[in-house]
Amino acid sequence: MSNVLVISAHPDDEILGCGGTLIKHSANGDKVYQLFVSDGESSRDIKKSQVKKLINKRKQCAKKSGAIIGAIETYFLDYPDNKLDEVPLLLIIKSIEKIIKKVSPEIIYTHCAQDLNIDHQIVHRAVITACRPLPGKSIKEIYCYEVLSSTEWGLSESQNSFNPNFFVDISKYFKQKLEALKMYKDELKPFPHPRSLEGIRVLGNYRGMNSGFKYAEAFSVKRILK
Ligand SMILES: [Zn+2]
Repeated sequence: MSNVLVISAHPDDEILGCGGTLIKHSANGDKVYQLFVSDGESSRDIKKSQVKKLINKRKQCAKKSGAIIGAIETYFLDYPDNKLDEVPLLLIIKSIEKIIKKVSPEIIYTHCAQDLNIDHQIVHRAVITACRPLPGKSIKEIYCYEVLSSTEWGLSESQNSFNPNFFVDISKYFKQKLEALKMYKDELKPFPHPRSLEGIRVLGNYRGMNSGFKYAEAFSVKRILK
């Protein structure tokens, strides 16, 4: 049994990136914890009171979707949406370290460095720093996931693009992943937007084709300690 911590910039990234894998962890008896760094809503051009309501609603969505994937705890850091570049990196790192200390995870899932979204980039950077392999640390494995409409829209040149080398068969859990995603229905767009139910199915099938499964999630391995 392992403790698994998924660290995402915004509520919905965790399901897009590794929802099926997290459900699989829960099914195997692992303890799944989710941590969100930004509120995912405060960059919208609307009244402050309205923003507060949206942030609370998004948190409820994260908890509901967390219940579907079997998450036993959900943490929010409440940093501003799409503005993590205005927060001192050290502050973000320290906040993440606090949760890591609490949860003692062996396995970490987080964003890859290549994403277009600035919050995703910064969360990746902060997580890699917070997870540095110091003696006595619990973390043994770090995997980076892809997020539709951010990873494939990234600015990186081809040699730096997302090149997955770790695939998880989620065929048995794909339906449940979609159920979890439907909790974030305000974030879903009509196809051919990548962040549509159809887009998510296409990526699941494509990553499955990459790896000989019906549906898969793809990761780049950042570090494994054995
Ligand atoms: Zn995001």
